[in-house]
Amino acid sequence: MALIDCPECYKRISESAMGCPHCGFMLTRDVVVAQKKSQLKREQEAAEEAKRDERRMAIWFGGIVAAIILFFVFCVAVSSPHQYKPHWSDGVSDTSNAKQAPWLRGFSDSEKETILQESYLFDVAAKQLEKERD
Ligand SMILES: [Zn+2]
Repeated sequence: MALIDCPECYKRISESAMGCPHCGFMLTRDVVVAQKKSQLKREQEAAEEAKRDERRMAIWFGGIVAAIILFFVFCVAVSSPHQYKPHWSDGVSDTSNAKQAPWLRGFSDSEKETILQESYLFDVAAKQLEKERD
């Protein structure tokens, strides 16, 4: 048996009841039909609202994913250090060229030196590993 809201006290009652057992409101056929209609309308509105929420969430999610991808693309584009790698010969370092690299912008001169030295040591270690493998 379907349930409807009592138009008087808003409690859930059986649509086949003669009256509301809570407040004594007399149920007529018209009242039952009207209550069912408004209930159906409310349910449809709730379903539409849920669908709207879902769409809103999808847009948000898509936006966040796009922002993350853009961020990574930006990072790669800004950093790509390979083409600016300094040329080192036998441990003698000339960093004057390398210090002009755009990815070092914002660092002080001594910081640039440290970064370049470290990347040099990194290269040396990588080359040693390669040699050991051969
Ligand atoms: Zn009632």
